[in-house]
Amino acid sequence: MSTVLESTCCSEIESSPAIRSANPVVSFDEARTLAEKFGSPTLVISRSAVIRNYQLLRDGLPGVEMFYAAKANPAQQILRPLCEAGSSVDVCSYGELLAALEAGFAPENMLHTHPCKTISNLTKCYAEGVRWFVYDNAHEVDKMAEHAPDANLILRLAVTSSSSHINLSAKFGAFEADAVPLLLKARQAGMNVRGMSFHVGSQCRRPEDFEPALRQARRVWDAAAEVGIELEVLDVGGGFPAPYRDDAVLTLDVYCQALARALDVTFGDLPIRIIAEPGRGVCADTATLITKVLGKSVRNGTTWYIIDDGLYGSFSGQVFDHVEYPIMAEDAERRGLGPCVVAGPTCDSSDVVCRNQLLPDLEIGELLLVPTMGAYTSASASTFNGLDLARVVGIE
Ligand SMILES: *Cc1c(COP(=O)(O)O)cnc(C)c1O
Repeated sequence: MSTVLESTCCSEIESSPAIRSANPVVSFDEARTLAEKFGSPTLVISRSAVIRNYQLLRDGLPGVEMFYAAKANPAQQILRPLCEAGSSVDVCSYGELLAALEAGFAPENMLHTHPCKTISNLTKCYAEGVRWFVYDNAHEVDKMAEHAPDANLILRLAVTSSSSHINLSAKFGAFEADAVPLLLKARQAGMNVRGMSFHVGSQCRRPEDFEPALRQARRVWDAAAEVGIELEVLDVGGGFPAPYRDDAVLTLDVYCQALARALDVTFGDLPIRIIAEPGRGVCADTATLITKVLGKSVRNGTTWYIIDDGLYGSFSGQVFDHVEYPIMAEDAERRGLGPCVVAGPTCDSSDVVCRNQLLPDLEIGELLLVPTMGAYTSASASTFNGLDLARVVGIE
């Protein structure tokens, strides 16, 4: 993903009762049974957790349509329950579209949010029936006018979001000053400009951050109306956070309340269609990695454990998503904790998962659990060194 912002530690988060911290979706006993059946590493996805998160967002934001951002995790074990629960989906590529189709989503319930598409991405998705596309620059309008002339367009706006861990406006999004000219450009090209979108940034730590972004969107919305462009759709993006190691976050409920209030204040007077594109908030805490200790050595007095998944695999989120996952050992407290290094299975010496987490004396073959492994993990994993990706297994 893109630029990491300074980590801001919010004292009000730590003292609030409405916090959630990282918890696995399986017990160690269940993990042993699953590892016997499917091997290790295995990424377990809980269907009921997917539905719970979806319903929390849907019920917490009445009137807001949910388009799950498939980028976060396009696994069928996540897409299928969401489709059955009534969600729509946000896709960025033909590959994500195919995954969504396989899960049962109809092209009418897809929104294509990549602001700068290859012609082949655009034409293949258009040919499948997708009719809602996002743009943020003038060249994209020409592309769309040529290859998807009857598409509905949403202009992506760049917003500044101070508390988000990942700034999603660092690469995409039109600046406020350019927004109206871009809307006019689309209209002059004969396109249907129907709405506006923004993303407050991923892993947004302060629910209050939605309001300034919405105010900015409203300014552009009104400026568009002044030149005769009546928009109908507001897309408030994603950003709902998940709990990681040393990073407890406020509950989805708290975010929904803040966003619903901010929507009311900024757009409550307009009869518009509002949609959201949550990714991480829906899928992150629905998955737990089961990984095994495959080796152990003492180097310069420090114990090193080699496990069967690492930075090139499910822990790739540490590289691209800039988060740290908690590693859990069975009965850890009772066994006594000590410093160690935990490293992945590849031959690359940078494949180190953590150097600063206390763990008990681990045995070869012992299973470890890593919660909050559902978003931006397997989605960005590779088979570097000829190693298989973690198996993905769905549970109820
Ligand atoms: C990544 C992305 C999302 C999902 O963001 P989360 O922070 O995971 O909720 C939604 N919309 C767009 C356009 C994105 O790029």
